[in-house]
Amino acid sequence: MTTTKKVPAYAAQSATSGLAPLSIMRREPRPEDVEIEILFCGICHSDLHSVRNEWSEFMATNYPIVPGHEIVGASQKSARQLPSTRLAILPRSAAVS
Ligand SMILES: [Zn+2]
Repeated sequence: MTTTKKVPAYAAQSATSGLAPLSIMRREPRPEDVEIEILFCGICHSDLHSVRNEWSEFMATNYPIVPGHEIVGASQKSARQLPSTRLAILPRSAAVS
């Protein structure tokens, strides 16, 4: 059974809504995951294209979307030791709680 927890995020609800706080559900980390506390997050042009659904012809955006794939954080939990060069990032799209 997969357990989930509610976490805070900034999300766009549509191509024109802008970003606003939203609680999203995330699954608990699996043995191959590393849980991090995000301290800083950049928003690049790829995030803006995704939020505005400007790449809809080949990669339509699923809303709500939580942009920001360039992050810096502190490791909070790892079920096993991972090589320092390996880090898995969960998908950007999120389910609404
Ligand atoms: Zn980027």
